[in-house]
Amino acid sequence: MIIPDYISPIVGYRVWRWKATGLQSLNGVPWLPGRPLVAGCGPPAGGTIVGRADAVHGADELPHSDCTCGVYAAKNLEHLRQIGYAQRGIHGEVYLWGTVVEHKLGWRAQFAYPKNLFLPPDAIPFKLSEIDARLKTLIAFGADIFILGDHVSIRFWTNDSGFDAAGVDYLLKTRQEYYIHRQRERTLKKGDRVAVLGQGIAVVEHTDDQEALVVLGKKLALRIALKDIVLNQQYMRWECEANNARGNNALRKP
Ligand SMILES: [Zn+2]
Repeated sequence: MIIPDYISPIVGYRVWRWKATGLQSLNGVPWLPGRPLVAGCGPPAGGTIVGRADAVHGADELPHSDCTCGVYAAKNLEHLRQIGYAQRGIHGEVYLWGTVVEHKLGWRAQFAYPKNLFLPPDAIPFKLSEIDARLKTLIAFGADIFILGDHVSIRFWTNDSGFDAAGVDYLLKTRQEYYIHRQRERTLKKGDRVAVLGQGIAVVEHTDDQEALVVLGKKLALRIALKDIVLNQQYMRWECEANNARGNNALRKP
C-alpha cells in the first residue's frame, strides 16, 4: 500500500519532468514507483522547491507552517497555469497526505504520490518503439495516463486495461499529420539525395517548382517531377520510382 487505508488524501496538481529514468520534480528529485515522495527540509531537501538552510523546526514537523519545505502542489490546473508551471513538463493530479500545509500557491505536503499523468504530445518520443520504453517508466507508478489533445484529454493508458485505443489512434494520427506536413513543407535543394529505386542514390543538381534535375552516379542526369519524389517514412529519405526518372542529355555536355 502506497497510501495508508485510513487516510483520505488531498488531491493537488503539479508538474514533473519526464526523463529517460522516470519522473522527477523540477528541481531534479526523483519520484519512485510504489513509494511516496517524502518531504525533506533544508537544501538539498527532497521535494522542496525552496528549502531553508537554518531549519526552524525538527525533522518530525515536516512540512512546518513557518518553513517552505514539503512536496508542493497547486490546487488545480488553472492554479498551476497562473503560477507559470503548466508549460514546464508533464502534469497531473497528485495525492497529498500526512501533514499538509495550505499556502497561497496551493499545498505543501509530507507525502505525495502521482494519481494520474497528462502528457503534452511534444513530450512523447517520436518513434513508437521509444514510446514503449519511455512509457514503462510512467506505467510503473500505476497511475492512469492521458495525452493532452487540442481541447480535450485522451485516455492513453489505464492501470486496469492497458493501452487505450483512443490514445494510440490519436498519437498515430498526429504523427502521420506531422509527416505529411513535413513532406509538403520541405523543398528539395541542391545536394539532397534521392533514392531512385532499383538504380541507386542520386544527388539533386537543380530544382524548379515542377521538377528536379538529379545526377545518378558520376554522369547520368535524370529529370523527375517533384510530385513523383516522395518521403519514405520508414527510412526517412526521398525516393522515386525508376520509371518516373527521365534521362537528360543536356547535363552531359561539358
Ligand atoms: Zn522546513
